[in-house]
Amino acid sequence: MKEIYYYLLPIAFILFVMYTYWQGKQRRYEAAKQVLDEAIQAGLTEPSCLHPVIDPIVCCGSGACVRVCPENAIGIINHKAVLINPAHCIGHGACAPACPVGAIKLVFGTERRGVEIPHVKPSFETNVPGIYIAGELGGMGLVRKAAEQGRQAIESIAKNRGSGKQLDVVIVGAGPAGLAATLGAMEKKLRSVTFEQEDSLGGTVYHYPRNKIVMTQPVVLPLVGKAKLGEITKEDLLAFWHRIVERVGMKINFNERVERVTATSGGYLVKSNKAEYLTRNVLLAIGRRGTPRKLGVPGEESPKVVYRLVDPEQYQGRKILVVGGGDSAIEAAVATSEQPGTTVTLSYRGDAFGRIKQKNRDRLAAAERDGKLTVLLSSNVAKIEKDHVHLDKDGEAICFENHGVIVCAGGILPMGMLKDMGIQVETKYGTD
Ligand SMILES: Cc1cc2nc3c(=O)[nH]c(=O)nc-3n(C[C@H](O)[C@H](O)[C@H](O)COP(=O)(O)OP(=O)(O)OC[C@H]3O[C@@H](n4cnc5c(N)ncnc54)[C@H](O)[C@@H]3O)c2cc1C
Ligand code: SF4
Repeated sequence: MKEIYYYLLPIAFILFVMYTYWQGKQRRYEAAKQVLDEAIQAGLTEPSCLHPVIDPIVCCGSGACVRVCPENAIGIINHKAVLINPAHCIGHGACAPACPVGAIKLVFGTERRGVEIPHVKPSFETNVPGIYIAGELGGMGLVRKAAEQGRQAIESIAKNRGSGKQLDVVIVGAGPAGLAATLGAMEKKLRSVTFEQEDSLGGTVYHYPRNKIVMTQPVVLPLVGKAKLGEITKEDLLAFWHRIVERVGMKINFNERVERVTATSGGYLVKSNKAEYLTRNVLLAIGRRGTPRKLGVPGEESPKVVYRLVDPEQYQGRKILVVGGGDSAIEAAVATSEQPGTTVTLSYRGDAFGRIKQKNRDRLAAAERDGKLTVLLSSNVAKIEKDHVHLDKDGEAICFENHGVIVCAGGILPMGMLKDMGIQVETKYGTD
């Protein structure tokens, strides 16, 4: 009789371990399924650029891709990897090489939503001689890749310098690609000007959520050498760039937006919102975020109007208007409404909010219910004054006290400017 326990105990132990393992797996499936369902409900099923396509027949459900994805964009459902959070995928591409059976392919765009990718040669020159593209605009995202491309593009440009009054190169954008390119231009002693439409450097990094951990890798920067970057907070990465800018004495023309580039004999005329420049080459390091869409109303040039929320705390005790109907508008409205003594009005021209995350919809409803926030649907801003704003709501004019306006009305994508310059752009529908 005793012997039976010798056999039963290990079997019971093994069954217990298997059951606990199976339960853990089920819980992970459920969690992944919930993320996927939320993305479908919010209509956020289209990845923005480079993303993985997983072949379910080849996939063995090892979960290696899930473990390496820093954005939690992939999950395992029913033993197969699935892109559960497509909007979070930023195209690291870490998942594809991690897959032990080669089930993942990285592609641009989807069947339903094409992604426009400009033609760029290995030298980073486009089909238009003298116009170069580096960084995310060319299709490949990531801080390290953008910085490396910026450096390499300048190496090509340095072989074709300007003459007379021409600059050698105009660098557009001060994100990772533009910053590395500017360092390269300084190292090669090129006559160059760098423009940034915003008031600070960093590009997309500048817009990451506070304290976001940036997953990056060491990168070689001109005049600096090998920068040992790894996992770093957004704030530390920006501080790193600021230190370099100060140390090398880099000049960046902030708040200067390049609006048009036209061909001249032997070069280009670059027109910004402030001046015109003659140059032999242009390096577009403008990323894919585009330029914030403006309202086009009187008073919009006021310093109290901004196009993104940096720090909700700065609005404590103030009367704020947020304009827009997407996730970023709702997130800005809710975050500012949580500040003590802040009154927030959210104005949206549509008669209902469209595709927004369920979490944001719930947070908005709660803030409205608690009386922290007022939503004005079917409304348009008509005029912005120092201490007031004027709106038109369903034909009725309304005016209220206001200390700050946050416009989250999306962006004008850069492809139009590229096409105007004659740069060939291909739309990819799920191809590499
Ligand atoms: C939420 C999120 C998380 C991410 N996390 C990571 C991560 O962890 N690790 C990683 O490696 N990558 C990450 N990325 C991707 C990475 O941020 C980008 O790939 C990288 O910033 C691209 O650099 P860039 O210089 O090409 O473009 P950008 O960083 O977009 O910079 C372009 C700059 O050009 C300026 N500009 C645009 N048009 C004009 C104009 N007409 N005139 C003047 N200036 C102009 C813009 O204002 C901007 O400053 C993330 C991206 C997002 C959205
Ligand atoms: S490409 Fe990057 S962000 Fe997208 S799923 Fe793969 S590892 Fe995650």
